[in-house]
Amino acid sequence: MNGDTVVDVSAVLEFLPASVWPHPHGDAVITHLDKLRPRISELLKQGDALPLGGVMLKSPIANPGKIIGAPVNYKAHLEETNLDKDVMPGQTIHPIEDIGLFLKATSSLAGPGEGIEINFPNRRTDHEAEVVVVIGKQGRNLREEEALDHIAGYCLGLDMSLRGREDRGFRKSCDTYAVLGPWLTTAEHVPDPADIPFSLTVNGETRQKSNTRQLILSIAKLIVMASAYYTLYPGDVIMTGTPEGISPVMPGDVIAVESPLLGRFESSVRESVTSGPPY
Ligand code: MN
Repeated sequence: MNGDTVVDVSAVLEFLPASVWPHPHGDAVITHLDKLRPRISELLKQGDALPLGGVMLKSPIANPGKIIGAPVNYKAHLEETNLDKDVMPGQTIHPIEDIGLFLKATSSLAGPGEGIEINFPNRRTDHEAEVVVVIGKQGRNLREEEALDHIAGYCLGLDMSLRGREDRGFRKSCDTYAVLGPWLTTAEHVPDPADIPFSLTVNGETRQKSNTRQLILSIAKLIVMASAYYTLYPGDVIMTGTPEGISPVMPGDVIAVESPLLGRFESSVRESVTSGPPY
């Protein structure tokens, strides 16, 4: 990515070690990112610049081992969730310190260009704009002081959420319900992870606008909490939570998420080509 153009650097994949089953945990590109970066810089100089608008953006992380979610991690979102009884009907919303994190199926991963598919057209699906952390280095039981050293970079994300009574990890794991984009911004370009402004529009109308300053559990604390339960591997992603302003989306809507630090992506909502699940 270079201004409004992108350069194809996929030739760098030749430098990855040969893949042998069983595959190690972690995304291979992120695991070897430090070694690949000088080669990517060389390829950037040689390759043809393509207009950004002419390429289809896929997920910047191809094979995350885990997609970790942070439930109600903004105070104003906690308040709106408790007021809106359709979000988690029949359930009391508890603070993140009490309920911990959740996991989204890795098969829910999608890039912005792949769009979002609604498989339950008669139920409510909401947008949740989030700042996403990409783990760069393996770690377990990390302390807060060392947590940020384990970050490879950041991107923006949509934690698309079917509303209802089912468990979070189930409702939020539909295909295409974890959108990551527009690209990986490496950690050195984000001077303060506690000050990342971001916003979301639906069909051009602003619905969410916040800053990671408003997080209940900071990015460092989320890494401490996650790594106390499971080893974090390179390429694991943590969706850090959504601020207030969630609302339902419908087929035909276009969602845009942007941050002056992390870029901008658009994702279109469509109905599933099948008629929905038979239950
Ligand atoms: Mn969320």
